[in-house]
Amino acid sequence: MKLWQKVLIGFGIGTVLGLIFPQLAALKPVGDLFIRLIKMLIAPMVFASLVVGASSIGDLRKLGRVGGKTLVYFLVTTAIAIIIGIIIALVIQPGADYVLLEVEEEYEPTPMPNVTDVIVDMVPTNILSSLVSDNMLQIIVAALLIGIAAAMIGDKGKPFLTFCDSLAEVMYNITGLVMNLAPYAAGALMAWVTATSGADVLLPLAKALVAVYIANIIHAAIIYSGAVYIFARMNPLDFFRGMFEAWAVAFTTCSSAATLPVAMRNAQENLGVPSEISSFVQPLGATINMDGTAIYQGVCAYFIAQVYGIQLGLPQYLMIIFTATLASIGTAGVPGAGMIMLSLVLQTVGLPLDGILLLAGVDRIFDMIRTSMNVIGDAAGAIVVASTEGELNLPTGIDISG
Ligand code: ASP
Repeated sequence: MKLWQKVLIGFGIGTVLGLIFPQLAALKPVGDLFIRLIKMLIAPMVFASLVVGASSIGDLRKLGRVGGKTLVYFLVTTAIAIIIGIIIALVIQPGADYVLLEVEEEYEPTPMPNVTDVIVDMVPTNILSSLVSDNMLQIIVAALLIGIAAAMIGDKGKPFLTFCDSLAEVMYNITGLVMNLAPYAAGALMAWVTATSGADVLLPLAKALVAVYIANIIHAAIIYSGAVYIFARMNPLDFFRGMFEAWAVAFTTCSSAATLPVAMRNAQENLGVPSEISSFVQPLGATINMDGTAIYQGVCAYFIAQVYGIQLGLPQYLMIIFTATLASIGTAGVPGAGMIMLSLVLQTVGLPLDGILLLAGVDRIFDMIRTSMNVIGDAAGAIVVASTEGELNLPTGIDISG
């Protein structure tokens, strides 16, 4: 049986058993173990493969072009994601029959990040501490510079590049081994989610959940399918099938950072994205490109306005699009980060921050779809960039046996 089939089975069994036996929430450590095994690969894998990638792109102009295309893709798809989210919220009216109970706690806003600080902070002062603390943007900047420099010094750089190449391969290989645990981890995490989110928590928010899920599905079906088809002539079904493992890992772990090794492996092995493009676009995407999070923020800003009886006008909608784009860029690829950044959107638009507390109980269910869409969006971006560079090695038949 293929790995993705086993993951699907694990997923189904976990979901059902969790609903029947709430004690199965105790299985969560099985999922945590899997997440830790994958997380330990991220820093060395991104660093090593990006060094090799940057050295083989070599030409600085090409590197700039790839970077530019990547950022344009990220920004455009994120803005479209929020617009889709708002349209679906307008149609579904998620807050229409929500009964607002007293919210007792107060929610502290997340301060708006200072753009200058963010840019300055991208440059590490100590490469080792960036690696140790998994600071992705700093790792990307350091790896790009080191890769370019290693290529520039010719023969002297070769042993180092060979070492990085081998390190990246070792990490990929471990990803493959660890993925054998994915069916059990998916089952354990789904059992934990369904066991801990009973119907009494889910039902009042059912419409908001449905709106977020539908908006995400529409975004994937139109924008990602369209992007891979138009730019790469890739059959969208092949695309989604090729990324299935990463999708399932993202859905169950709720962390795009932790899913990165699997997502890169899927994009390179199943979809023909060359490693130098995948190792640049996907880690950057896992850090700053969050379409699923953006959709959630759009829908939930509308939901909270509606629940509190606040009318939004065009300026507020534009403000939501603008701040949710920024907020999703600033969202870390870890569970729950998107909900915390929602406070930024609410505060800028002037909506009550306490609204977040209404959503907090089911955040995991929102997070599952937003993370999986964040990861799929990065992979679609890698395909668009690779194919516009003429470097996509389109697979002839997709084998996702793992
Ligand atoms: N959990 C999401 C991710 O890792 C971020 C979020 O909470 O929206 O991509």
